[in-house]
Amino acid sequence: MLSGVIVKALSGYYYVRSSDGDVDEETVQCRARGIFKKRGESPLVGDRVRYSLTENGEGTVEELLPRTSELIRPPVANVDLAILVFSVSEPDLNLQLLDKFLVHIEHAGIPALLCLSKQDLEEEGEETAEAKAAAESVNRIYGALGYEVFGTSSRKGDGVEQLQERLRGHLAVFAGQSGVGKSSLLNAIVPGLDLETNEISSRLGRGKHTTRHVELINIGGGLVADTPGFSQLDFHELGIQDLSYCFVEMRELSPSCKFRGCTHVHEPGCAVIAAVGEGTVAKSRYDHYLLFMEEMKDTKRRY
Ligand code: GDP
Ligand code: ZN
Repeated sequence: MLSGVIVKALSGYYYVRSSDGDVDEETVQCRARGIFKKRGESPLVGDRVRYSLTENGEGTVEELLPRTSELIRPPVANVDLAILVFSVSEPDLNLQLLDKFLVHIEHAGIPALLCLSKQDLEEEGEETAEAKAAAESVNRIYGALGYEVFGTSSRKGDGVEQLQERLRGHLAVFAGQSGVGKSSLLNAIVPGLDLETNEISSRLGRGKHTTRHVELINIGGGLVADTPGFSQLDFHELGIQDLSYCFVEMRELSPSCKFRGCTHVHEPGCAVIAAVGEGTVAKSRYDHYLLFMEEMKDTKRRY
């Protein structure tokens, strides 16, 4: 049997790229065995599979290998690098939103890389000082937490090669608020991709359509989803007790709290509250934690 990765799913077919041979090889159009349906399993783009070839040059997906992660938007399995894109300006860098995205990605158990896009705007315009300060605080706060921070400009091409290099050997998705430059960055990174960007869609008087089928593109030994992922999120699938686990610094400090299951809100002997007081945990992160907790309580009350 052969081994491969599903790179596209369309109209009941799965397109599998061999992971044994040449990376530039054509994909094989496969049907999935009926057994998956019976078991309630559904192959996803990104799934590592075993497959066999049939006589007509097509193939059959015989077996799904265990997943390391599963994203819902876009629906891709085994993503091992999420690139969270935030522009230094236009739209302004919003740390609350950044933390929200990070919570989501941490919950999915996927390593995140922060990409500060539109760096060229730091060099011109009136908002320069503000954009610079925002970028610096991202480097300081998130760098200290162990997140990688990349700076890019799709307009000037800065950082694009480094990002391409970083994707090598990974299955990556891009995510971030609308307008931050995800499509432009994907276009810069994936030769020939030509995704529609906001500029074009507003010139044509329509919103960007986002209902495309996701496809994994091979770039120099890595795979990248050709569709930007989630651009907004809610906390539906997250339990309140999971929230602190999605903040790396709280995850690390929790064992030092006096009470097991400490919510880090009001408990005496809380290591997180102490660290916020000492300035070793960023106040902005802690404030967002409290805010998200309230939001989650509200959501749960409403449903
Ligand atoms: P998306 O919604 O995140 O996919 O963002 P787009 O790629 O569609 O870009 C949104 C807008 O930002 C468009 O008008 C782009 O031309 C602009 N943009 C994208 N990248 C850059 C950049 O590196 N520098 C500047 N100055 N503008 C950019
Ligand atoms: Zn605590």
